[in-house]
Amino acid sequence: ASQNDANSNIMHSESSDVDIPNVTIPEFILPSLERFEKYVASECATTGRTYTFGQIRGKSKNLNKALRHAFKLQKGDVVGILLPNCPEFGIAVLGVLEAGLTITTMNPIYTPVEISKQLLDSNTKVLITQAQAISTAKAALQLAKKDIPIVAIKRYQNDSLPSGVVDFEELVNNEVSIPDVPYVNSNDIAVLPYSSGTTGLPKGVELTHYSIISNISQISHEDFNFYDITTDNYQDVSVTVLPYFHIYGFALNLLNMMHKGCKTVTLEKFSPEIYVSVLKKHRPSLLYVAPPLVLFLISHSGVKSEYFDRLKMLMSAAAPLGLTDEERFIRKVRKEINMCQGYGLTEASPVITMIPNKTKRSEKNSGGVGKVLPNTLVKFINPEDPSGTPIAAYEKGELLMKGPQVMKGYHNREEETKKAFLDGWLRTGDIGYYNDENVVFITDRIKELIKVKGYQVAPAELEAIIRDHPLVDDAAVIGIPHPQHGEVPRAYVVPKKNSALDEENVQNHVADKVASYKRLQGGVRILESIPKNTTGKILRRQLKENFAEKGF
Ligand code: AMP
Repeated sequence: ASQNDANSNIMHSESSDVDIPNVTIPEFILPSLERFEKYVASECATTGRTYTFGQIRGKSKNLNKALRHAFKLQKGDVVGILLPNCPEFGIAVLGVLEAGLTITTMNPIYTPVEISKQLLDSNTKVLITQAQAISTAKAALQLAKKDIPIVAIKRYQNDSLPSGVVDFEELVNNEVSIPDVPYVNSNDIAVLPYSSGTTGLPKGVELTHYSIISNISQISHEDFNFYDITTDNYQDVSVTVLPYFHIYGFALNLLNMMHKGCKTVTLEKFSPEIYVSVLKKHRPSLLYVAPPLVLFLISHSGVKSEYFDRLKMLMSAAAPLGLTDEERFIRKVRKEINMCQGYGLTEASPVITMIPNKTKRSEKNSGGVGKVLPNTLVKFINPEDPSGTPIAAYEKGELLMKGPQVMKGYHNREEETKKAFLDGWLRTGDIGYYNDENVVFITDRIKELIKVKGYQVAPAELEAIIRDHPLVDDAAVIGIPHPQHGEVPRAYVVPKKNSALDEENVQNHVADKVASYKRLQGGVRILESIPKNTTGKILRRQLKENFAEKGF
């Protein structure tokens, strides 16, 4: 293509397009549940609870009917799932979706304040949670002034549930005879995970059945496929702490594994001892992780190379992986496995680029996030350029993309949805470039979003909380680099005149209201004023540059 043909700078996939079936998620997964019926689908690492694919099928079908029957839910109503990774997660998801309902996934370590915000914004009608989380769930409902049914999963058969809480077991083990109906369309919204996108507060990301099936189909293209067919002699095993409430875990590690007939061993939370013992016992063939876990695998002395004797692929995504970490991991496991970095975001269900399976590692692709997935277009633009003209290889700019995996929009937020796109292209807020081998590199982020251990932290959320403090006049939050967590939040605060506000006041005020990874681990600094532009927008770049130059 000629140099001045700007369109030649639009990146197409090197892989052929895939067919995307026009079905719902349950319809997409059902044939696998039947085909692999007798094999184990999920197992809890700590309690040993296991389910076969056949059991998941039967129980999700019962749940579908029970939800509609017991709670009179209607098509499109939202069911909240507040669960750690557990073997029942897939049953809950399929049951809710078969009933024609929409799921919103919540981080199980959220505080009642955080849960209440999501309950309200999504208009959740029923909450599915775990026995241990009932008091948190109740506190959240009280804050939200909501009186909705709570359904709880028990970890052990003899766990007891408080009165008024519905036992998940009862819903999934009994068949109510109501018709199988409500007609679900593949363009209906399946999941509403929350993401702050490029700016502002967390928003419900409308992902349809179609967008998620698209992404699973795209990553299943033969160029990106890592799975072997389950038989009596072989089954892929994945060990998973990567949270299911986040779209990366939800699509790739939960739905995709069910679709492939792989077994997943779930961990409710990360603890080095348990994780190491699970690796030792289960010898995973596939691992989906975020960068901090790669660092753990490399550096922890209890992690032995023989635990990876079956490992074929390790995929790291959700945040940047250090350039040399790929090599350090390969050295540790002492064999060539597919070190697969992937890049994406919630708004793209989530994958946009991924390292193809036959990639030989070379200097040219080292640190890259792979190639554009099938059916997907990517371009880099100057973020200030309203025409969105694609720029050439090696030039840094904002990554925009198009594809069937893109969200419908942000729930109830028309303005924000409009701003998320430029002429039909999704703006990612990420900065990067591509090289002459069509490998994509992500180098920076221009959106406000902070990523702590791969988890989203929205500065606007923390700023609103800090500004609520009676001694605070104004506040701004940015992410600063952190060796293990990637980034951590740091606050700049303007105290009210003559007030005796100190760092600790602010730290404690925030710590009470947010999950631990959102705490101000980057510290609090007192300023006389927050740098802003003429329209009152916080100049975060300036704060970041000040930090980089002066450490303040
Ligand atoms: P989320 O919506 O929580 O998945 O966050 C998406 C954001 O995480 C992206 O827009 C990037 O800023 C960042 N991200 C995801 N994967 C990568 C990666 N492989 N390298 C660098 N940043 C990444």
